[in-house]
Amino acid sequence: MPASLADRPAWELRALYRRKAASPREAARAVLDRLEALEHRIHAYLFWDADAVVAQAARWESRAHREDAPPLAGVPVALKDNICTRGWPTTAGSRILDGFRPPYDATVVARLRRAGAILVGKTNCDEFAMGSSTENSAFGPTRNPWDLDRVPGGSSGGSAAAVAAGEATLALGSDTGGSIREPAAFCGVVGLKPTYGRVSRYGLIAFASSLDQIGPFARDVRDAALALRVIAGRDPADSTSAEIEVPPYDEQLAGEVKGLRLGIVREFLSEGTDGGVAAAVREAVQTLRGLGAVCEEVSLPHAPYALPAYYLVAPAEASSNLARYAGVHYGHRTARADDLYTMYARTRREGFGPEVKRRIMLGTYALSAGYYDAFYLRAQRVRTLIRRDFEAAFAKFDALLGPVAPTTAFRLGERTQDPLQMYLADVFTVPVNLAGVPGISVPCGFAGGLPVGLQVIGRPFDEGTVLNIAYALERATDFHAARPPVASAAR
Ligand code: GLN
Repeated sequence: MPASLADRPAWELRALYRRKAASPREAARAVLDRLEALEHRIHAYLFWDADAVVAQAARWESRAHREDAPPLAGVPVALKDNICTRGWPTTAGSRILDGFRPPYDATVVARLRRAGAILVGKTNCDEFAMGSSTENSAFGPTRNPWDLDRVPGGSSGGSAAAVAAGEATLALGSDTGGSIREPAAFCGVVGLKPTYGRVSRYGLIAFASSLDQIGPFARDVRDAALALRVIAGRDPADSTSAEIEVPPYDEQLAGEVKGLRLGIVREFLSEGTDGGVAAAVREAVQTLRGLGAVCEEVSLPHAPYALPAYYLVAPAEASSNLARYAGVHYGHRTARADDLYTMYARTRREGFGPEVKRRIMLGTYALSAGYYDAFYLRAQRVRTLIRRDFEAAFAKFDALLGPVAPTTAFRLGERTQDPLQMYLADVFTVPVNLAGVPGISVPCGFAGGLPVGLQVIGRPFDEGTVLNIAYALERATDFHAARPPVASAAR
């Protein structure tokens, strides 16, 4: 039996539409059926609108087959709930944004609409994207489609799970310290964090503005390339978005790695990395070697300091960004306050969850007079050292390789009592955000029946090389084609 339309990548849907072998209405139906069959077990979405899905599909029904149809015409796409959508709830996984329906679309959403995407709904995430498991969502966790007792990763866990389970063809997430790559690795899909500045952040609910970046989740590398092409590019509404040409990534996928110099990051394959994860990553390196890449060890000597630096810089920025949730302009406002100060305090006490409060306290502490130099400034200096490590590595190598995370998906509840254990899931992803460079997670095997991701890290604005290396691996292996059992059973 041919795979359900819910399991097809976007580029295949496009090809089917062109031949009139399938239509947007059918693909939308297949995704909605899957969603209705699995959502009560997976909880990938916080909101979806079946009527809107059908209406959007109808709009492309008679046009998606045309040669001049836009690149995502009739393709179902899910959005992390920290990305603003006009008229649709946008909570960032927080009670403090209860009832908030933005009056505008994020730039990435506007671009998706223009590209013909069918927007399905808003996916679950850790509150304000703070977390590595989606357990910090105020609305309950998402479950990993590969094992419902395990986390999907985070913070964009809903987006990763939706794509893995066939509840969306593509999804967008945000990555501040690993929130696209880690859930992609845990759920066995492709996840790309672009270079800082590659994609507009306008309409992304800010966590740590010098680190945040929006990127795609996809079932294969070609789809990730296609999605990036649609969302990337300069946006006058985000002054940090770069005026650098966006190549047609999907058309430039050659999967050729012959002669490329790839650095295997020594610090990422230390004793702290699970044996099964390290083995899958080493196997991927062998595969790329077999394809003609020159792979050698490289050191990022300051990488071990990335986690502590990140957990000062990110909370510092978050504490400032989150000051705006005061119960005045939008979202939750306490019902019990006689004066303004009490209103602010109660609103925030009621609206924010424990991890968000922890970050605000860490951040304000790191920024306070007397501690600023010792903590915040020092962390910024470490950040510079980390960026220089990458620059030195890229003087010798075209891209770097390593695991995405030290383990596969862990059990629900396993790390919720110990924030440090939770933070450790990000140990290999945060250096990439601190340096601002692009990184992808591409399926490279299984350990104990759970997916493992290979991380490919590139030079600034060289997403093309990152995608190409991932594509080469994908063509030489078949891990991306595996589907979680729940999805296969649902048809
Ligand atoms: N897990 C990291 C954190 O909690 C990164 C989150 C993210 O990338 N948004 O901060």
